[in-house]
Formats: sequence, C-alpha cells, structure tokens
Amino acid sequence: METTTLPRPPRVGLVSLGCPKALVDSERIITKLRADGYQMSPDYAGADVVLVNTCGFLDSAKEESLEAIGEAIAENGRVVVTGCMGNEAEVIRKRFPDVLAITGPQQYEEVVSAVHDAAPPAPSPYLDLVPEAGLKLTPRHYSYLKISEGCNHRCSFCIIPSIRGDLVSRRPDAILREAEKLVEAGTKELLVISQDTSAYGVDIRHHPRMWKGHEVRAHMTDLSRELGKLGAWVRLHYVYPYPHVDQVIPLMAEGLVLPYLDIPFQHASPKVLRSMKRPANEAKVLERLKNWRSIVPDMAVRSSFVVGFPGETEEDFQYLLTWLEEAQLDRVGAFKFEPVSGAAANTLPDPVPEEGKQERYERVMALSARISAEKLAAKVGKTIEVLIDRVDEVPPPEEGADKGHFDAPHPQHHHGIGATGRSKADAPEIDGEVHLRDAGHLSPGDIVSVKIEDSDEHDLFGVPA
Ligand code: SF4
Repeated sequence: METTTLPRPPRVGLVSLGCPKALVDSERIITKLRADGYQMSPDYAGADVVLVNTCGFLDSAKEESLEAIGEAIAENGRVVVTGCMGNEAEVIRKRFPDVLAITGPQQYEEVVSAVHDAAPPAPSPYLDLVPEAGLKLTPRHYSYLKISEGCNHRCSFCIIPSIRGDLVSRRPDAILREAEKLVEAGTKELLVISQDTSAYGVDIRHHPRMWKGHEVRAHMTDLSRELGKLGAWVRLHYVYPYPHVDQVIPLMAEGLVLPYLDIPFQHASPKVLRSMKRPANEAKVLERLKNWRSIVPDMAVRSSFVVGFPGETEEDFQYLLTWLEEAQLDRVGAFKFEPVSGAAANTLPDPVPEEGKQERYERVMALSARISAEKLAAKVGKTIEVLIDRVDEVPPPEEGADKGHFDAPHPQHHHGIGATGRSKADAPEIDGEVHLRDAGHLSPGDIVSVKIEDSDEHDLFGVPA
C-alpha cells in the first residue's frame, strides 16, 4: 500500500513588542496565518520565518525594536518586520539590509502576504481549525478589545496621529460580535482599548447599528452598556474626561462596567496642559472626580503623568503634587519627558535638565506610592472579588529572611499552593495584584471572594473567603 507523507506546515516565530494595541494586531495576524495552515514556533531555531511586531513610539522603544530585529536576524536570518516602526523602513533597511519585508501598522494583508512569500504555506487539507474567537496572546481569561484606530488630537509630545492617522471607529455591532465570541470562548474580562475611548464614534457620527433586535449607537455609553450585558468584567482604558463620561458612571453603579477608569491626565497644571495640547483640558476635574466617587464609592482611577515637560517650572510641578494629593488616585504611572522624533514638543523652549526630571520623577513616585499604600491599607479586613490569573507553588521562606514590617506573619510567607489575581481595581500588566494563600483548589479565570489580610504599596494579600 502506498503511503503519503504530508508536508510539514511552515512555522512562524513571533516577537511582539510595544503596547496592548500592538498585541491585538499580533493576534489578528496570527489568527490569519493559522487559518492559512501555519504553525507557531516557540523558538527561533524551529521557525521558517520570524515576524517582529515593532513599537516606534519613543526613541527608546525604537531602539528596543531594532535590537529585537537584530537578534532575530542573528538567530534565524529570515525576518519580516511589521508594526509602528514599519513606517521607518529606511532606518531598518540601513541597519539590517537582509530583512525580507517591512510593513507598517495595521497592514494585516501585507504582513500575511510577506510571510507567504518568505515561507509558502504547505498545501494541506488538514489545516488546524482556528477557534471561533481567533487566537489570543493574552491568557484566555482576559482579552483586549480594540474599538477604534488613530486619534483626532495632536498632543505636542505624541506622533501617534502621524503614524496611525485620524480616528477610525469600528462598527458597534462588529465590536459586540467580537466581544460575544470572546466571552463564549472563556474570556472573563474585556479590556476596552483605543487611543481615545471617549471619542469613540465621533468620526461616524455615532451611527447606530442593529444588535440583538435594537439599535446601538457608536457611542462610548451605549457600547459600554451592551458590553456589560455580556457577563464579563468590562474595563475602560484611555478615557478622556469629556462631559459625557459622566454618563458611564451610573453603568458602574449598576455593575455593568467595572468601577475603574484609566484616564491619562499627563499633568494637572493648566499651563503645562495647554502647552501639551491635551484634549478635555478643563478646570473642574477634581470636582467631577469627587462627584463620580459619590455615585461609585469604590471607583479606582488610574492615570499616567509626564514630568519634566519643556517649560515645566517648580511651581507647575508643585501644582501637580498638590493636585495629586487632592485627587487621591489609586494608581499612578509617571514618565520623564523624552523627545520623540517628529513631535512638536521637541522645539518648545526651556527644556528641563535630566537631573531635574529625575528628581521630580522620584518625588511624584514617592507621593503616589504613599497614597496607594494608604488606599490599599484601607481594604484590609474587607472581602473583595478577585479574578485569578495564575496558580503557583509558594516556596517556604529562606532561613533568616526578612519577615517584613508586619507583626503577623506576612501572608506571602505561607508556603503551599498560592494564587495571584486581580481585583476590580487592577488592570493586568499595569496595576497591582492580589496574592492568595491556600489557593490549591483555584484555576486561572476563576472569580472568587477573597478576605484581605494585608497590603503593601502596590499589592494586596489575602485568603479565599
Ligand atoms: S490623545 Fe494625544 S497622546 Fe493620545 S494618541 Fe491622541 S495625540 Fe497622542
């Protein structure tokens, strides 16, 4: 009897750099490649071609992208580049003339055809079936949901609009269909991302589409409400405090959307904000925060700030510190201003010297760490819901190890099976975590009640209730 050997499917290695948005792009590309019969290779050696999804936002990110391309060339040699740095093809070509192809962000078709050229798909009738909701790089129980591309603003420190173009919103029914499939496939948390979530639908005049027998407008409030009905946690990122954000707060009170807002304030001083050309730069933000918290007392607010922006005086910086003390944000990320090639802010007068930036960075981080520690300490003794991310063996503490500053044994030091998860106040990757002891019966994706026993500057410690 004659036997035939099917050709081995070609394998693609993937290096994904940059932000959650780039991760979503990688997921789309992989989903398409898997549908075309490709397999993923976990290492360079087993890959027929390596795809590097780059980030080109900051100069430091560009350097990291170039290093990743260099490593892929050295380790494998057959490299296709995509992502934000793809817009600077000449820089990449100059340094790595052997790169097979370079494509820009969101050029899914081009990337896929470049991979086809580099490693033609095997003609096999036994293609792997692609799961309904596509392949995800994030753990199965949480998923990023991209609702739009691009941005209509022109913040002076940012080049995203010149890379990604003006705002292009997805249809609400398409977003909801994708979200529903993700939830059916096991997603417990949907992370809504975009460059400017509050502006969703502005470009398509909030045009309504039919979804489950009724019209849903392409508007942040309508979309959030419908997403909330799917039964997963819904977390909103990159929300600018436009007046209509007030309408989302009642959805939090109803439990449809997580009591969490990620608002990239970037600064508090009106003068600096003007110079940054930030959207929704209006006075009454503190008042609105207070009002939101009166409706949703456990609302967590995360934000990021830039220190050392050109022209930022000690007085401006003090204004920011006083504002932060008042605003009592739950999570704060700070960045030292870094010029990005092509950004308008680079030519602004009065740059802040490096030591000045460093000093302000340390002061803002110290203040936010204190506020965070106080806010977390107030949760000790309470019982909260936690979504489990991983379950792991906790080793016994080493002899003579520092037992921490707590009188009671630190829960971290209970060895056995522990688990790590996140409360409603914590987004993955950027916020804190909740560490559990006695968690052997739990699995990633479980949502459990946890009695909080302890806290530090960033994390909580507890036991299943
Ligand atoms: S809102 Fe400003 S910082 Fe954000 S993407 Fe648009 S231009 Fe860049």
